[in-house]
Amino acid sequence: MQDSFVHKGKRKILVDYLRHKIGISDENVLKAMSEVPRHLFIESIFEDFAYEDRAFPILANQTISHPSTVAEQSELLQVKPGEKILEIGTGCGYQTAVLIAMKGLVYTVERQKELFDFSKKKFRELHLSPKFQSFGDGFAGLPTFAPFDKVIVTCGASVLPMELLKQMKVGGKMVIPLGPTDEQVLYRFTKVSLTEFEKEEFGAYKFVPMLNNTNQ
Ligand code: SAH
Repeated sequence: MQDSFVHKGKRKILVDYLRHKIGISDENVLKAMSEVPRHLFIESIFEDFAYEDRAFPILANQTISHPSTVAEQSELLQVKPGEKILEIGTGCGYQTAVLIAMKGLVYTVERQKELFDFSKKKFRELHLSPKFQSFGDGFAGLPTFAPFDKVIVTCGASVLPMELLKQMKVGGKMVIPLGPTDEQVLYRFTKVSLTEFEKEEFGAYKFVPMLNNTNQ
């Protein structure tokens, strides 16, 4: 599979939809999503639908998020070029690629070995360079590389991962879905001092669950 004018045209339509129907206004997000070839991150049988606002199954019973969810999480993160971003849940690597296209320095963690391997290969094929890619449990974060400007969690957490709050810079932000497995609420936490956080709420979503430990 390659990236063609047809794919580029479909991405333009998707970006118009994200701008006008979903209300995304961060030009950095819209530009990144007009560039990243989402169809190359999913199975070829879904290629024709890659630029519709749909989630698809990926390896290890996980899902690639809806483009509107990727856009909303990316916008809420308020990424500035050169910021250090910790991503929990690499999955197929699409959200990672969007953050890289937004000029973030991305440190990404995945607990499913199959997806860790898949995304590693994908990044190599597409000449994308996350700063660091880890096979591990995102609940632990990446203490060696902390503190981070931004943290994005792409799976639904039933409890707030305290370690991730610790690994944020003061002034940093974390976007995370929190709640039970059937439905979560998307939150943005801003670290206003070493011990204080501001919490904002952005509606209901359904993400795959954030699980403990790793799966070989
Ligand atoms: N952003 C991804 C979304 C994948 S779904 C994409 O664009 O494809 C969420 C991912 O979070 C899954 O791959 C799942 O395995 C992973 N995940 C769940 N719990 C985790 C944890 N504790 N640490 C790291 N990754 C986790």
